[in-house]
Amino acid sequence: MRWGTWARTGAAIGIALSLAACGSGPTRTDLPTRPRNSPPIVLTQPPSRATQACYADLLQQSVRYSALPDRDYGGGCLLTGTLQLIDYGVPTTNLRAMACPLARTFVAWVRYGVVPSGREILGSPVVRVESMGTYACRNTVGTRTINRLSEHAVGNAVDVSAFVLEDGRRITIERDWRNPDPAVQDFLQTVRRSACKRFGTVLSPDYNAAHYNHLHLDLGRGGLCR
Ligand SMILES: [Zn+2]
Repeated sequence: MRWGTWARTGAAIGIALSLAACGSGPTRTDLPTRPRNSPPIVLTQPPSRATQACYADLLQQSVRYSALPDRDYGGGCLLTGTLQLIDYGVPTTNLRAMACPLARTFVAWVRYGVVPSGREILGSPVVRVESMGTYACRNTVGTRTINRLSEHAVGNAVDVSAFVLEDGRRITIERDWRNPDPAVQDFLQTVRRSACKRFGTVLSPDYNAAHYNHLHLDLGRGGLCR
């Protein structure tokens, strides 16, 4: 995406937040330490080269999105180089700010991992994905590592809760993770394996009780596939 387009999109959203940045606003390094979940401060730095390259990748892959301005919510909760997915071919609920590489990986996983798995294993492609969200300013949950900021706090994680097939069936993580139907089992295990190849960390109901109803997918360095 050209810088001008990014700036226009960013300005529009900044105004929507009543925090329109003007001229030389704060950058990441100017910010004082603020508590978590402070009112967002919109940063005016231009997107990094890596982010711009990621945006270009999405355009090339016919993904419609809107780039979001960088925002700091205090306490390490920070969105940089994020976007709102608008249309990538598979309607998905509750997707809000996602770091661009996360969005790029998520789109590829759904298109090339999830949709065909439905068609090949359950006889009907996945036509809709339900998520429980992306950005959240909080720590990791259900682990012994306390006071560790979640990948959700930097827009680098998404929680997926269900898949809807073209024939109307709805496969949910909560209800179907231990479904005795071998085809449903195969589908969910295949989808998880496909996620593990693409994301940094994948956590399922097999990991801990906190993940009983969703697959947590992030691009952090956790290296877990559970
Ligand atoms: Zn999560």
